[in-house]
Amino acid sequence: FATRGVIKCHAAVAWKPNAPLVIEEIEVTPPQKNELRIKVIATGVCHTDLYHLFEGKHKDGFPAVLGHEGAGIVESVGPGVTEFKPGDKVVPLFISQCGECRFCRCPKTNLCERSWSSERYASMSDAESHFTCRGQAILQFMGTSTFSEYTVMNQVAVAKIHEDARLDRVCLLGCGIPTGYGAAINTAQVTPGSVCAVFGLGAVGLAAVMGCKNAGASRIIAVDINEKKFEKAKVFGATEFVNPSAHSKPISQVLHELTNGGVDFSLECVGNVAVMRSALESCVKGWGVSVLVGWTDMEDFSARPIQLISGKTWKGSLFGGYKSKDFVPVLVHDYMSGKIKLDEFVTHSMTLEQVNDAIELMKTGGCIRTVLNISTE
Ligand code: NAD
Ligand code: ZN
Repeated sequence: FATRGVIKCHAAVAWKPNAPLVIEEIEVTPPQKNELRIKVIATGVCHTDLYHLFEGKHKDGFPAVLGHEGAGIVESVGPGVTEFKPGDKVVPLFISQCGECRFCRCPKTNLCERSWSSERYASMSDAESHFTCRGQAILQFMGTSTFSEYTVMNQVAVAKIHEDARLDRVCLLGCGIPTGYGAAINTAQVTPGSVCAVFGLGAVGLAAVMGCKNAGASRIIAVDINEKKFEKAKVFGATEFVNPSAHSKPISQVLHELTNGGVDFSLECVGNVAVMRSALESCVKGWGVSVLVGWTDMEDFSARPIQLISGKTWKGSLFGGYKSKDFVPVLVHDYMSGKIKLDEFVTHSMTLEQVNDAIELMKTGGCIRTVLNISTE
């Protein structure tokens, strides 16, 4: 096996919550049984990275290397790896697909018992770390850690993709775009001619807009408190735009009036329990479906039971419901054939050294996605 021993490389280390990331030299272990070591070429910055750093208060989730929306090239493989070889282009996956557990064998879900997430929500990291820095073990955030020049992953959590794929674009298929797009297509199952509302127009929400459009929705109402996002939403297919702050009435009432009784489908892509409630209340009774996509584990959500008794459905979606290893390569193909957009999500390109600027941009709503170019191919 072509393993080179420990690699020393650069990574952005989150030593503690609410502090800037620090570019450090870290040591990355060689791949063990069933593992591959990946040279990360590019990574997006997703709100879930910010969530861990500033909002989630997961104190035992540090020190860690963040980043979970990456793409790279296999550097070396450990014993037992037959599906990958050095040089393959890959996307690291925060939800694995072992193919053997009861979830993988069930077509109704994309969960996998082998994911870090099956037991480790409390720290948002993998139990087993492959990194050390200054003599300390460093956690792998969401099992991926793409804010690093190299990472090590089990083969059940890596998708092999087309050899001509543009890595500084398909990295977005590691999280945000499948999450929003699949939430509309797979979880909500948006139908042709339907009326949809998408709350939150970051990359996740814009991908949900794209999903509604590709599913044939006739009206797509884009909702955000930052009106700068509306122009981009039009590019992905939004037909109407509402800023909740510009109305004195609750947003659900505004949407009921606009749609003669509520939308058929609503998608919450903010991560705020009050918005989750509004999204449910914005649906039409009888058949309305509301999907939770935004991430928070800090607060309970609530709603009046009549919302569901009257026939609405409230669902959630993780990674858009896609079985990860099977579908990320398909989505890469869909991008290469023009069926889905990726270029339009990328508003900024930066280097790993600029990661704190990228985080700041997202915090202030100044970007959709920043892609960090980590290494050259
Ligand atoms: P982002 O920060 O780029 O976008 C969030 C958007 O919500 C912003 O445009 C912001 O202006 C808007 N917003 C804030 N408050 C609002 C309100 N009250 N009403 C309407 N809009 C409001 O974030 P992102 O990267 O697009 O991620 C969106 C959410 O999805 C986050 O919570 C993230 O953690 C979550 N997420 C979930 C999954 C999953 O598998 N379920 C995967 C990835 C990300
Ligand atoms: Zn993400």
